[in-house]
Amino acid sequence: MSGTVKLKPGREKSVLQRHPWIFSGAIASAEGCENGDVVDVVSSKGEWLARGSYNRKSQITVRILTWDMDEKIGLDFWVDRIERAFSAREGLWVSDDTEAFRVVHAESDYLPGLVVDVYGRWLVVQFLTLGVEKFRTEILKALQEVFPGMKGIVDRSDVSIRKKEGLGLRKEIAVGEPPPTPLEFLENGHRFLADLLGGQKTGFYLDQRENRALIGNYAHGMRVLNAFSYTGAFGVYALKNGAEFVTNLDSVQSALDMAAQNLKLNGFGELDFELVRGDAFEVLREFLKQGRTFDMVILDPPKFATNQRNLQPATRGYKDINMLGMKLLRPGGLLATFSCSGLVSPDLFQKIVFGASIDAKRDAQIIEEMSQGCDHPVALTFPQGAYLKGLLLRVW
Ligand code: SAH
Repeated sequence: MSGTVKLKPGREKSVLQRHPWIFSGAIASAEGCENGDVVDVVSSKGEWLARGSYNRKSQITVRILTWDMDEKIGLDFWVDRIERAFSAREGLWVSDDTEAFRVVHAESDYLPGLVVDVYGRWLVVQFLTLGVEKFRTEILKALQEVFPGMKGIVDRSDVSIRKKEGLGLRKEIAVGEPPPTPLEFLENGHRFLADLLGGQKTGFYLDQRENRALIGNYAHGMRVLNAFSYTGAFGVYALKNGAEFVTNLDSVQSALDMAAQNLKLNGFGELDFELVRGDAFEVLREFLKQGRTFDMVILDPPKFATNQRNLQPATRGYKDINMLGMKLLRPGGLLATFSCSGLVSPDLFQKIVFGASIDAKRDAQIIEEMSQGCDHPVALTFPQGAYLKGLLLRVW
């Protein structure tokens, strides 16, 4: 017998429209529901609506897994959903020149709280919620069934949002062999290294794959500032497309060390790039003082807005860094600027960048609008899944 969550009158709409989250405020009663249980969701009148994972510790108290009354949540369910997500990436999977991509993008792939990335013969999985944590054994089994050729599965559940679910952090080899550290893989034919256990996210910013290719296409002959470079991926694309010189800037030394390795792997040496360690806000100001200019500036900062409370300071941060980036460009140069804060909408982001152009006293035109890669889809029922946005601007 599973528990039953009864909604308050008038709170059924989002469930009927297949939004996967039920907030604590929408719940009238939760009979027989223990944290981590799969529970039935019924309307205020008692009609069956959906089935999902329950966790009172989270504001998002239920994450819906199915709207089909006959669908049971067991090994078959996980295999079916993961297989469906995988089949939607078939085009990527069969391509010889891209070996790393996201295969399960949580809510947007109808698997709330579960992230799975492929890196060659390894999978990296993140269990972000109690709902999926409870099914860890089944999910690992399902992954081995759907991906029989894998050498191992790395568990990177060392993500702080797990704390909101009452969960600790975990980082380990869950199945099979440990991956080489670092592991080498191809992305659009370029060679990259990623540290699947120690790197940021699951090792690489896979969501920027298409944007790296797009921006790279414009880089021919350019002196490029790749700010917030992480392991230098944008810089590799730029040089592969004929950029004259790339300055990679990041605050983390291990990221820069790997950037150097990535650049060398692709055939570049000290005449092609430099590595600068520092706080981008300070380094860009210093470059301005020195009178340095660039033909292209890439700004791919971390998520500045993590909640509504810090949206204001985050907005100021984005505006400041964009103002500095624009001032460093020669007239007619290109600014590729991103925000991965879900709370900053594309519309707000454009307004922030506009504010930056006013402060920088520079005119700017949008040449390209960008979003997250095709392996990070956005379910129409779950607009919160859209987080990455970018603009390529010509700055006068
Ligand atoms: N463009 C990269 C991903 C960037 S992620 C890629 O394509 O792979 C953001 C990066 O910003 C991280 O590597 C982080 O170490 C770095 N970072 C965070 N705060 C910073 C700061 N104040 N100054 C410079 N780098 C910073």
